[in-house]
This record gives sequence, C-alpha cells and structure tokens, in this order.
Amino acid sequence: MTDVDVLIVGGGIAGASLAAEIAPNRSVLLVDAEDQCGYHSTGRSAAFWLESYGGPVVAQLSTASRVFLDSPPVDFSGHGFLRTRGDLHISRGDLPELPEGIESRIIERPELEQMVPGIRSEWRRALFEPGCADIDVAGLQSAYLRQFRRSGGTVRPDSRLHSAERIGGRWSAEFQDGSTVSASTLVNAAGAWADQVARAAGVGPLGIAPKRRTMVQLRVGQGGLRDLPLVDDSEGSFYFKGEGDRTIWLSPHDEIDSDPCDAAPDEIDVALAIDRFEKAVDWPIEAVERKWAGLRSFAPDRVPVYGFDPQAAGFFWCAGQGGFGIQSAPAAAKLAASLLLESEPDSMVARVDPAPFSPERFR
Ligand SMILES: Cc1cc2nc3c(=O)[nH]c(=O)nc-3n(C[C@H](O)[C@H](O)[C@H](O)COP(=O)(O)OP(=O)(O)OC[C@H]3O[C@@H](n4cnc5c(N)ncnc54)[C@H](O)[C@@H]3O)c2cc1C
Repeated sequence: MTDVDVLIVGGGIAGASLAAEIAPNRSVLLVDAEDQCGYHSTGRSAAFWLESYGGPVVAQLSTASRVFLDSPPVDFSGHGFLRTRGDLHISRGDLPELPEGIESRIIERPELEQMVPGIRSEWRRALFEPGCADIDVAGLQSAYLRQFRRSGGTVRPDSRLHSAERIGGRWSAEFQDGSTVSASTLVNAAGAWADQVARAAGVGPLGIAPKRRTMVQLRVGQGGLRDLPLVDDSEGSFYFKGEGDRTIWLSPHDEIDSDPCDAAPDEIDVALAIDRFEKAVDWPIEAVERKWAGLRSFAPDRVPVYGFDPQAAGFFWCAGQGGFGIQSAPAAAKLAASLLLESEPDSMVARVDPAPFSPERFR
C-alpha cells in the first residue's frame, strides 16, 4: 500500500495547482482517472480571464490571480500565460453592472462599429473591459504539474478512485485496478465527479451540479479577427472571440444539466450558437471547423468550495469552479493550501475571506 500525507483525486487545474502549492510541505500523490490530467473541463475551456465573470466573490480570486498569470515567478515559468484582448459586453438596451473596482468604459455605436466591423445595427452600445485576456491553459497546467514533481510530488494517471474509508484516523483508498493508498487527507478535486467521489468516501454530497457548455470553431468570410475583443451578449446568450485571422470560437452560453461524463456537443446547441452569432454580425459562415463540449460544475450558490468538511475528518473539498476555474486557479490554490496546511495565507490571498468558500455553508 502507498502511504502519503495527502491524496488528491483529480488532476485538472484545481487538483494540479493545489498539489503544487502543498508539495513542499507534505508528501502528495495526485491521481486522475484519465491518461491525461487535462482531459475533462480543463482541456475544454474557452481559455479567457475576465475579471467580472462569476460575480463579486469569485472576482476576488480572479483579480488576485492576475499578476501571477501575467508575470509568474521565474522558477515557475519563464513566460506569462496571458494575452490581453479586452471584452465587449454588447447590448441592445441597458449595460450590465460589473462588480466594484473593475475597470471598464462605455463604448457608443460609432466606436463599436470600428471594434467589431459588421456588427448588426440593433447592438447599440457596449461596456468594454480592457483587462480581459486569453490564458495559455495547457502551459499553465503543465507548469503546475512540473512544479509539483520538482517538489517531490507524484502524478498517477489512469487511476480511478473506487472507494475510500476512514480507518484509524487515515483514509484507505481503493482504486479501480485494485491498488490501495493510505493518506491522512483526501482532497476532492474531481470536477464534475466531486459529489460522486464524496459518496465513494462515505461523505455526504454538497450538490455540485455539472452543466454542459458547447463551443464551436467557425471559419467566416471576414478577416483580421485574431485580435478581436471577446464579444459577449450582456444578456448572456452567446460569446465569441477571434482565434485565427478568419476563425472564431463561439459559445451559445448554454448551461445544460448533465451527469458527470465525457461531454459531447449536441447538434441543437451548435445550431443555436450559429443562429445567435448570425444575429450579432453579418459575417458569412464558411465552415464549422470544430465543436466540443465540457462540463462546468457549480455548488448550489455558484461559489467554489474550498476547505475541510466539518462532518468528515480529513476530507477536503476543492470543487465547484464553474466557468472560472482557470482564471482563478493561482489564488484559489493559495487559499486552499493555507486552509489545508492550516498556515498563514500567502500575500496573494491575505485579504480574501475564506468563509464564503467553506463547505460549512452547506452543512
Ligand atoms: C466550454 C467551457 C468553457 C470554459 N471557459 C473558461 C474560461 O474561459 N475561463 C476559465 O477560467 N474557466 C473556464 N471554464 C471552466 C474551467 O474549465 C473549469 O472551472 C476548470 O477546468 C475546472 O477544473 P477542475 O480541475 O475542477 O476539473 P477537471 O479539469 O474536469 O478535472 C477533474 C478531474 O478529476 C478526474 N476524476 C474524476 N473522478 C475521478 C476519480 N474517481 N478518480 C480519479 N480521478 C477522477 C477527472 O478525470 C478530471 O481530470 C470553462 C469550462 C468549459 C466546459
């Protein structure tokens, strides 16, 4: 039987970033059911950092993560992970209200036409968030895994947790291949499977609900799109961003209840995305080049859950990252690490109150 201080179940961005933060202080085993840690939500995101996304509680973590994502410590990465493009919340009527302190400015129709040539006339104005940036998700994920290994941590892919039991003050975990691991702390970073993993350990679920989101890559008859701002409907029915010179990534902003699974796009959502896109701009669609879907998992109040379960000794939640798990990962991992290690929080999160993230709110 392998013996460690901490067993982390789930090697997506949540598990990988927390693993890297605690490995200097604990022996850690990071397991994932798949052969690649980024196979599920982490590898399927739209890859942007948008400070206002997810509301004011989440925005604290996204804001706190910005400097690290932009210019990480040199021993973590020799380059940053962001490329700024800005975001236009376009509107046919009222402009959205952003959480306090987020930089933005109003864009009237003439400027909007310059920023998005071909935008249809009903979109009268927009709120521009200049800080919105693309995130190099694969680069960030692999930098966390590299840092974790350098600190002595072990990653074990192809290892699906089957069950876990608390015996004599430690977790005894059994995997699908029959192998076992003993750990004093079990971290649930299983994304869409978080409630399932809790049940497998005899812990009550929190109601972490996976919801499917669809993405489509379109080739269109319009050039110069690579640096286009992210464009989203302020009423939340679509967003798109330039990918290549004549290609865009588009989502119908769907949020469809799902069981945890290897999510795939439904044709109806692809059609819906295209219909909404055609109502936004007059660019002819030449081809659907790619489509995919992933699961965004939410706690009942849509705030992520970081902390020990008050009803299950040694069981730590790191779940419910919704649609903002990548942009908030650096600060979330620092916050979760201080809760897990019961240590002073890093300066990055010194001003973030951990209470709204605690699993206690559901117990
Ligand atoms: C279409 C889409 C667009 C998005 N866009 C953005 C964006 O622009 N910006 C942003 O910040 N976020 C975005 N997100 C959200 C972001 O992708 C997630 O919040 C984040 O990836 C969640 O990370 P995770 O590690 O919790 O989950 P995952 O990456 O899903 O990792 C969980 C892991 O747990 C493993 N696992 C599950 N059960 C077991 C088990 N029993 N044993 C072992 N391993 C197990 C799985 O194999 C999986 O690899 C988007 C998501 C989607 C789907």
